[in-house]
Amino acid sequence: TRRDGDQPEFLQAVYEVLESIEPVLANHPEYEANGVLERLVEPERLVKFRVAWTDAAGKVQVNRGYRVQFNSAIGPYKGGLRFHPTVTESVVKFLGFEQVIKNSLTSLPMGGGKGGSDFDPKGRSDAEVMRFCQAFMTELQRHIGQFTDVPAGDINVGAREIGYLFGQYKRIRDEYSGVLTGKGLEFGGSLARTEATGYGLCYYTAEAMRVLRDDGFSGKTVAVSGSGNVAIFAIDKAQSLGATVVTASDSSGYIHDPNGIQLDVLKDIKLDHRGRIKEYADRVPGAEYHEGCNGVWNVPCDIALPCATQNELDDAAARTLVANGCTVVCEGANMPCTPGAIEVFKQSKVLYGPGKAANAGGVAVSGLEMSQNSYRVSWSFEETDARLQSIMESIVASSLAAAERYGHEHDLMIGANIAGFVKVADAMVAQGVL
Ligand code: NDP
Repeated sequence: TRRDGDQPEFLQAVYEVLESIEPVLANHPEYEANGVLERLVEPERLVKFRVAWTDAAGKVQVNRGYRVQFNSAIGPYKGGLRFHPTVTESVVKFLGFEQVIKNSLTSLPMGGGKGGSDFDPKGRSDAEVMRFCQAFMTELQRHIGQFTDVPAGDINVGAREIGYLFGQYKRIRDEYSGVLTGKGLEFGGSLARTEATGYGLCYYTAEAMRVLRDDGFSGKTVAVSGSGNVAIFAIDKAQSLGATVVTASDSSGYIHDPNGIQLDVLKDIKLDHRGRIKEYADRVPGAEYHEGCNGVWNVPCDIALPCATQNELDDAAARTLVANGCTVVCEGANMPCTPGAIEVFKQSKVLYGPGKAANAGGVAVSGLEMSQNSYRVSWSFEETDARLQSIMESIVASSLAAAERYGHEHDLMIGANIAGFVKVADAMVAQGVL
């Protein structure tokens, strides 16, 4: 922490994990003897690079690119790329650190990494985005490979960007391999990858509610934030499990549709036209638009699924949710709830599912995409979706078992941190001090 005092998001993610795993350390003196904690919080490698490209007006633009290769104890580095003006070293490190524990929880052989750039694709043409992706990959390709580091998408990196990135990697390396996941179906992508994080979030939430509350989505009112890849497919699955989803948001504001979000309209605006959420209220009678995205948590609900970005739900929002009767909060985004919000949920006995467990479905299906690429096969949607569901259910089970073993019965956050950590720590001890 001495070295990282100016990295608030990274420290926030680290403190949460270190606090949770305290009870484990007493039983495992070998972790201290092998410096596991000190090594765990220091990335194996962090590359920072210039990305220069030419915009539509012929002006040279310079952005900063990052890749953090955090931990390779249990597999090649794996984790997404984020393109957003708020991307900093602290943000990629927090995401990379979370990814180490998350990937371990999936039970697939993947280490943790993350990357991206402060490039803002808003208002940029396809051709500009392509040129940026090509410039970004021209440097990134030196550091990645199907057996070393396999990036994927994240905020503002979807099918279009992965296609451009893959094309440039193939051109420079003259190699057709599964070096990225989230690829188009025509060139090695997996069915159900697009849906995986949102669907997985609902499978996780449904299983946790079944085990801990003997309850489920049916008949519940759900508030979702965000309107990107994760949010849209969370809304889709929650609706098909019998819930009414009444909100969605973007960074400008949120919509409240008491009759239930019309997914075809939302997809048309957000996925097909890269439009703003405000347009939904212009098209759907009875729906309201409100400026300011954080107001989304004022809408009464039984279940809240934050699916936008880090620290989007603070302690004040948590108190409002609880006062309005919300009893379940599971995170589709990475670290959307502040530590203060998590404390409110704990004290109010809210069923709280942390992102590194609840949103692990995306990387889990990315892991399945890597397997399919290696075997040179493609599984059906149903087969992949069934594997996803079973992985999410087993994450609930392993989290609850770890929590119980260390005296924190029913605590999904402590359980996820312990279950994910122990596997990585054991592998680090076995491989020696590196
Ligand atoms: P997208 O780029 O598809 O969508 C992000 C959405 O969140 C957009 O609607 C964006 O709105 C909105 N948003 C961004 N910042 C804010 C904000 N401050 N308040 C409200 N809305 C905001 O990204 P994803 O759906 O892929 O990612 C969302 C979250 O899920 C991230 O935390 C990501 O790390 C996490 N995640 C994603 C996975 C995946 O498979 N894609 C896997 C696991 C986790 P706008 O259009 O205005 O920018």
